[in-house]
Amino acid sequence: MSGAILDLARPEILQLQPYQHAKWDPTLERMHANEMPWRAQGDNTKAGLNRYPEPQPRALVERMAQLYGVPASNVLVGRGSDEAIDLLVRAFCRAGEDSVVITPPTFGFYKVAARIQGANVVEVPLLPDGFALDTPAVIAAGRDAKIVFLCSPNNPTGNLLEEAAMLRVCTELAGRALVVLDEAYIEFSGRPSFAARLAEFPNLVILRTLSKAYALAGARLGTLIASEDIVGLLRRIIPPYAIPASTVEDVLALTEAPQRALAAARIRTLLEERGSMSKRLRRNANVARVYPSDANFLLVECRDAQRFFEAGKAAGLIVRDFSSAPGLTNCLRISIGTPEQNRRLLAAVEQP
Ligand code: PMP
Repeated sequence: MSGAILDLARPEILQLQPYQHAKWDPTLERMHANEMPWRAQGDNTKAGLNRYPEPQPRALVERMAQLYGVPASNVLVGRGSDEAIDLLVRAFCRAGEDSVVITPPTFGFYKVAARIQGANVVEVPLLPDGFALDTPAVIAAGRDAKIVFLCSPNNPTGNLLEEAAMLRVCTELAGRALVVLDEAYIEFSGRPSFAARLAEFPNLVILRTLSKAYALAGARLGTLIASEDIVGLLRRIIPPYAIPASTVEDVLALTEAPQRALAAARIRTLLEERGSMSKRLRRNANVARVYPSDANFLLVECRDAQRFFEAGKAAGLIVRDFSSAPGLTNCLRISIGTPEQNRRLLAAVEQP
C-alpha cells in the first residue's frame, strides 16, 4: 500500500496479508463457504441468513455515499461509528508507543478504544464555559499523536466546534496526524458536514451514523468517510463479513426517500421540543444552567443533580448522570424525547 497519509499507519498493518473472504459472486451457486444450503425455518430475508453477507455491501456503500453526498470510494461501512473508531485506533496506533488526543468532556469511547489498543491518551480539555476547542493546545498535542478526535456537535456538551478552529487543526496537522471529526449529531445542527472538505485535507476522517437522526441505532450502521488510502487500509482490518445481512436489508429499506422525509420532519419537531424544554428548564429552581445545544439532547447543570435524576426516575424516565465527570459537576444530559415524555419529565422535576 502507498500514499503519504499511510506513513502514519502501523507498519505491520501495511504489511499484513488480509483475511481472504470466500469470493463474492452472486452469479454462482455457493459451495465454497461452508454454509448450509437451506435457510433456517422462518428466515424471510431476501439474501437468506444461511449465507455470509457481502463484505462491504456495494448497495449499502452506495446508499451511504448518496445519503452523505460523497463518492462511494471514500466510504467504509461498519457496525456503528464505534467500530470505525476502533479500526482507526488499531490501524494507526502502536501499543505502548503512539497516542491519541481527546478533548474532554467528550464521547467516552475514543479513550476506551485507545486504551484497549494500548495507545496513550492525551487529554486537552475543552475551554470552560462554552466548551470551545483549545486550538493551540490541540495542535501542540496533535504534533506528537497519531489521531486527534474531535466531536461536533460534541457529546455530552451539545455545542458545535468552531469551523475555523477545526480547519486550523486539520491544516496544522497535515501529514502529522489524522483528524477524526465525529459528526454523529450533525443533522440536528443545521450545519453542513465537513465531508465536503475531504479533498483539501488527506488527514481528515469524518464519522457519520444512522443511530441518531435516522432512528436506526439498533441496526448498528456507521459510516467512515476518508481518503481512498485510509478506506483501503481499514478494509484490510475490518472483521470478515462485518455487516449482518439483516442490517443491510433493513438499512436499504429504511433509508429511502419517505424515511428521509420523515426523519427531516422529526428533526424539526425535536428541535422545537429542544427549544421549549430548554426555556422551561431555565425557569426551574433546581436548574443552574441549560447549555445551548446543537444536538438532540440538553446538558443541564443542576443545583442538586441527584434530586433531578430521582424525580425523573419516579416518573419512569431515566436521564444520563454526568455529575461526577470532570468539568461537569452537577450536570445531567437529557435526550429529547417525544412531546409526551418531555412534558412528563418537566412536570416531575417541577414538583417542589
Ligand atoms: N459518536 C458519538 C459522539 C456518539 O455520541 C455515539 C453514540 N452515543 C457514537 C459515536 C456511536 O454511535 P454508533 O451508534 O454509530 O456506534
